[in-house]
This record gives sequence, C-alpha cells and structure tokens, in this order.
Amino acid sequence: MPGSITNDEQSLIGFRKALLEWYDENGRDLPWRNHEGEAYRVIVSELMLVQTTVAAVIPYYHRFLERFPTVTDLAHADEADVLKLWEGLGYYRRARHLHALAKAVVANHGGQFPHDEADLLALPGVGRYIAGAVRSFAFDLPAPILEANTIRLLARLIGLMETVELGTSQKTLWAEAARRVDPDRPGPFNQAMMDLGATICTPRQPACLICPVNKFCKAHLGGLTETIPLKAAKSPLKPGEEVSVIVKRPTDGSILLLKRSVQGLWADFWELPTFWQAGADPAKRRDQGFEYKNLDDLIQLIEALMGLRIKPLEEVQAKPIRYGVTTHKMTLNVLGTELISENLIRPQGFLQAEFVAPSEITKRTMSTAQRKALKIPLKG
Ligand code: SF4
Repeated sequence: MPGSITNDEQSLIGFRKALLEWYDENGRDLPWRNHEGEAYRVIVSELMLVQTTVAAVIPYYHRFLERFPTVTDLAHADEADVLKLWEGLGYYRRARHLHALAKAVVANHGGQFPHDEADLLALPGVGRYIAGAVRSFAFDLPAPILEANTIRLLARLIGLMETVELGTSQKTLWAEAARRVDPDRPGPFNQAMMDLGATICTPRQPACLICPVNKFCKAHLGGLTETIPLKAAKSPLKPGEEVSVIVKRPTDGSILLLKRSVQGLWADFWELPTFWQAGADPAKRRDQGFEYKNLDDLIQLIEALMGLRIKPLEEVQAKPIRYGVTTHKMTLNVLGTELISENLIRPQGFLQAEFVAPSEITKRTMSTAQRKALKIPLKG
C-alpha cells in the first residue's frame, strides 16, 4: 500500500528513537562535542583517539587547541612543535598526518574543510571513519562511521556470526551503519552509537538489562552476547630486550642524545644510544649495527660507532622499563656510564649526535620509554 511502512522500517524508526532518547539523557560530555561546523576540532580529537582512551586524550586535546586554535595556525607550525605537543600520546604518525592535513586544507581548500567524502578522503591520514566523523559530527550529514565500539555494537545488533576483521564482515557492517544513521540527527546518532558501545555494550559482560536497544538486538535475544563479535586469533607479541646507555660527561653533567632519521618509527625523535639484544628490533636499528651480546660489546660499540670511551658506573639497581611497540613486547634496561674521552662521531643513520644539558633535555621530543629511561637515578 503506497505510503505504508514495512516492519523493518518501523523497527528502524523505533531503534533510532530509543537510542537517541538514551543519548540525550546519558551521552558523555566530551570537550570536542557541541562544536557544530568545527571540522578542525573533530579531526584533532579523532586522530588523538585512535588507539587511545578518552581520559588520556582530554588534556592533550586542550593543550593542542590552546597552542594551535585553528587549522591555519597548525599549518604554519614547525613539525617539531607539533610532535612535542603529542609527546606521550604515542602513534606519532597521527601527529604528522594531522600537520600535513592542515597544510593541505590551507593550500587546497582555502583553510575550510571540505564536506565532500572524496575530498576528505584525499587528505593525509583521513580514512573512511574520520571522513564519516567529520561529515556527521561537524556538518550534520548522514554519513556512517565504524570504529571499535560501533563495530562491536553493530555486530551484536545484527547477530554477525563471522569474524569482524573479514572483508565481507566490514562490508556488511558499513552497509548496516549507513542504513541505520538517522537522517534528521546524524551527528548525535553516531555519537550515541559510540557512547552505547563504550559504556553499555562493552567487550565483556555488556549491560543488556539496561540497554535501551535490547529489544532490537539479535545477540541479546539469541543469548550470544559473549560469543559476538567473533574475532580472528591474534598472534602473540614477540618479546624483545634492549638497553639504553646514558653517557654522562662528568665536566658539565650533559648526556649524549641521538636524533633518529626522518624515516620509520619515532622518526625525528631524540633518544639515548640504544642497542638491542640479539632478537627483536622493533625500532629498526638493524641497519645501524646496534646489536650487542654483552657489556664488553656495548662499550666497544660505543667507541667504534660514536668515538667515545666510556666506563660503566656502578651497577644500576633500577627495574627494567616495559613497553609495547608494533608487534613487540619490550624490556628496556638502562646502563649508566661516564665519559672518559671523546671524539664524537654521529653514528650512521642518525641526523644528529649531541651532548645535551639536563635542563635542555625536556625540550627534545622523545618516546615515553626513553623519557622514563632518563629518569632512572644512576649510581656513580
Ligand atoms: S542488548 Fe546487550 S549486546 Fe545488545 S546492544 Fe545492548 S548491550 Fe549490546
């Protein structure tokens, strides 16, 4: 009958209504929300939130926007300043993408973010999710989004019995996300999906009894909430061990730092001379001959590669630093040494080698693990 709606459409309308009513009452109050039209804020927050929790991002977000309030300010910034503000958040490629994106928006779009999906996707670091987030959150266009929380939520809602990583699953989930978006309130709808996934439809023990959309959920109705989403088996992280050497110049207390090359992990970052024990090398120092087997090796390598004669300080009783990077689970030991004589050579593959005064070290961009290594008190 013309004008009538199907059961499916009725159910969809009911789903949107229940979700949005819940969101209007319970949505999270996040600093990057309620800035309609401000695509720049959406992009900054979304890039910061990749693989990072909301709580960790909030202070970084405020500092970043205070320093670079507009996309034009960011486009004109030095990359070193951008990376410095990102220090500690990890995944530094995001910061570089954000910087490159700001330059592209200024150069190619007169400083105004485009609305069109293809134009957004052409910007550095923008994938389908971020394009959807900008279009729906900033411009209120009915664009779908799919990220960790919404993947889990949608997979349960539709009772998806395939691993979510599969290409076919991704296609189904994107189509489902697009079908469900509320055409009248696309931004709040997508935010609501993310919030429901983050707070109610959690990975373990989802709170189905208080879930506003439980009557629309196939996993809940079929008793499959602990089974869905199906996940591909993960390969375990590879263990690796490395040592960072603190070479201290006794005359002025300065410490040797190296600046990594412009390519690869931690590109352009400063670090202590760091050597890996035979095995894993996540930071790709392999080309630089930085593998060692024992303490004597280390002393000789420092002399051969950097022209420095050093003596180890009394054994350091510090706990090793543990951190994860790419596919590795690393243990970082720290060795304190003192300079005996110097004829400093910049080791191959590094941009700079320099003795840096302690007061200057905080101004250099470093990874969190390296920053921790420098805080270890040394005996001697
Ligand atoms: S009913 Fe349970 S599994 Fe289904 S969407 Fe709600 S919280 Fe998630």
